[in-house]
Amino acid sequence: MSRAEWKPPNATGKKIGVLNLQGDVYEHLDHLERLNVAFMPVKQVEDFEDLAGLILPGGESTCLARLLRIFGIDKIIIRKFHEGMKLWGTCAGAILLAKSLMGEAPHLGLIDIEVERNGFGSQLDSFTCEASVPRVASKPIPLTFIRAPKIISVGERVNVLLRMEDFIAAAESPDVLVTVFHPELTPSLDFHRYFARKCGLQPDVGNKITTVWDRTSWMRLARITANDERDGTPPRGSVTTGDRS
Ligand code: GLN
Repeated sequence: MSRAEWKPPNATGKKIGVLNLQGDVYEHLDHLERLNVAFMPVKQVEDFEDLAGLILPGGESTCLARLLRIFGIDKIIIRKFHEGMKLWGTCAGAILLAKSLMGEAPHLGLIDIEVERNGFGSQLDSFTCEASVPRVASKPIPLTFIRAPKIISVGERVNVLLRMEDFIAAAESPDVLVTVFHPELTPSLDFHRYFARKCGLQPDVGNKITTVWDRTSWMRLARITANDERDGTPPRGSVTTGDRS
């Protein structure tokens, strides 16, 4: 998806929204596009009509929580959730959704998990690895942890999808998925496909990422210029081209 090609989707019917306040929004949109489900970035109350699901991306949870409150988006997320909108929080998004945060007041509190922010240490303690998540995919999935939180415990109605060493990395309730890693910063579409199905949508089953994706491919999408930010279009470049010039 190049910047020139990208248009807000006009598909009718149910979409997956990506909360577009801060963090890695376009990387999620890019993955959803590859699955051929309707999607859109959302940042105002009117954007929340017709959403089957909402992704709260990674970024910085304190900043995101402030913006949610300032723009009154927290209330609309909670209202739409109670009307049936599914939620997926990646990393900072998972922190926003947790019912309990170690040493801090919770934010949206929509899934019964306890989370420790920055559970691995500083940004320098970020890492990548691979793991099997049988409910989500038949093959191991690449995982990217960036100053990630740890899920310390889950409540009764929450299933653990991936437990690693002393922490839980992915979990879900019937209506909320949380991952402390970033599937949108890997070539894998598995978690996006899993969430789309949880939302009642029918994503493509094939893996459309055909070109080489290395561990830095997503960084091209992160290079948003001042102009890109002003007119709201996504950044130059496409993860499908393999063109790294
Ligand atoms: N450390 C961040 C926080 O506490 C989360 C990092 C991320 O989303 N990659 O909000």
